Amino acid sequence: MTERQENAIRLGLVGIGKIARDQHLPALASDDCFVLAATASRNATLDQIPGHADITAMLEGGHALDAVSLCTPPDGRHAQALAAIDAGLHVMLEKPPAATLSEIAALAERARARGVTLFTTWHSREAAGVGPARAWLTGKRIDAVRIAWREDIRRWHPGQEWILAPGGFGVFDPGINALSIATAILPDPLLLESAWMDVPEGRASPLAAGLTMRSGGAQVTAAFDFLQTGPQTWDIEVDTDAGMLRLRMGGSILQLPDAPEMQAPDREYARLYARFAELVAAGESDVDIRPIQLVADAFLLAERRMTAPFAF
Ligand code: NAP
Repeated sequence: MTERQENAIRLGLVGIGKIARDQHLPALASDDCFVLAATASRNATLDQIPGHADITAMLEGGHALDAVSLCTPPDGRHAQALAAIDAGLHVMLEKPPAATLSEIAALAERARARGVTLFTTWHSREAAGVGPARAWLTGKRIDAVRIAWREDIRRWHPGQEWILAPGGFGVFDPGINALSIATAILPDPLLLESAWMDVPEGRASPLAAGLTMRSGGAQVTAAFDFLQTGPQTWDIEVDTDAGMLRLRMGGSILQLPDAPEMQAPDREYARLYARFAELVAAGESDVDIRPIQLVADAFLLAERRMTAPFAF
């Protein structure tokens, strides 16, 4: 651990599950702008950090918190974020930021009224290739975009029943990462034209989906699959008047015509926490709903097909 700044942000971490352990804890441990002062999780606790079973107990726990970071599933996050904002704390939200668009709008309004920072994070936008991809595409004619996001739910989300429940997003839980990148790199707005989704019998959220969108003059297709065994694919291809751009492995690898492949170590969560500290210092919020808007549009427009029951 690095030496903490005197005025470090005292942070409460909520929902100690996979992403909290894999990414948030290492990022916080190496960022001296933050002190992890407390946690709230129904079952999990961390050694040497005061833990509470829920956010209310954490907020009342006398930890002099400045901010909270929510790593729970999206359904239920609105109430947690609201409690933190009403306690005068800055709030950072994992993706997707909430279960519905209305919840995010209400949180943004409340944060504004209370004068605290609200940050809807999109970690995939912080992948090494995304910024350079956006810069390279600037000024080029974009002819077509193909998104393929295919992963194995059993490998990456073992036992996460919530992901197929209402508000769990199903295959859009990873798919929204692709949409967060597409909305960041494409200069024109993305508009959904048609969609389909496959929902297993007895579940609320899809295991596969296909989207056809438009961005300026370009057709943009997305194929999302949660049952991909073997090689896993998180790729975006963009055809332009200057050749094809390929973002691979979730945006961490960038391939451009006539240029060496670009790859850099993963700093997604380090960059998210650095940005959160900047927003807090500037007294600003960053609330971008475009990726979740597209998912909501898919749920509005899609042809829904029922498929065989699914068990983890
Ligand atoms: P997870 O492993 O299920 O962890 C979430 C934790 O939240 C659980 O361990 C649970 O801890 C707590 N929780 C509170 N209310 C819950 C509820 N109603 N149902 C289930 N758990 C509840 O999930 P995760 O993979 O960390 O994902 C959490 C969020 O991070 C999601 O929005 C996801 O999209 C995002 N994310 C995940 C990944 C990834 O690779 N997994 C990557 C980036 C972003 P207690 O039982 O102790 O309360």
